[in-house]
Amino acid sequence: MDDCIFCSIIQKKISANIIYEDRDLVVIEDIKPVAKVHYLIIPTAHYANLHEMSAFNASTLGLILKKIPEIADSLGLKNGYRLVVNQGEDAGQTVQHFHIHLLGGQKMNFSV
Ligand code: 5GP
Ligand code: ZN
Repeated sequence: MDDCIFCSIIQKKISANIIYEDRDLVVIEDIKPVAKVHYLIIPTAHYANLHEMSAFNASTLGLILKKIPEIADSLGLKNGYRLVVNQGEDAGQTVQHFHIHLLGGQKMNFSV
């Protein structure tokens, strides 16, 4: 999608620190980390949120979830990590391309 920052990163039109990529996803460092370790797991397919997700997108998201443990292992997150999806305005979603925050590297002293 033309005016989407994450599509531009996926297409290498703008730069980002990409730490993993394959056909289904890219993993980048968040530009404004809120934890010691803060990455974004971004499907290569553009859809804004769960409400726009097709069945095909959902099956790819399943494959992406399956890859997260090996990505986390490669990042050395042996003590655990948190996955966060901000869905819509009230949750503070600012980029309208579905993504999962991967947070770790420290004990997160709050729970949901
Ligand atoms: P959201 O609030 O939509 O769940 O999260 C969007 C995240 O994308 C934010 O944590 C923000 O810091 C990050 N972000 C926004 N623009 C860029 C960018 O151009 N590059 C990178 N690496 N991260 C970005
Ligand atoms: Zn996009």
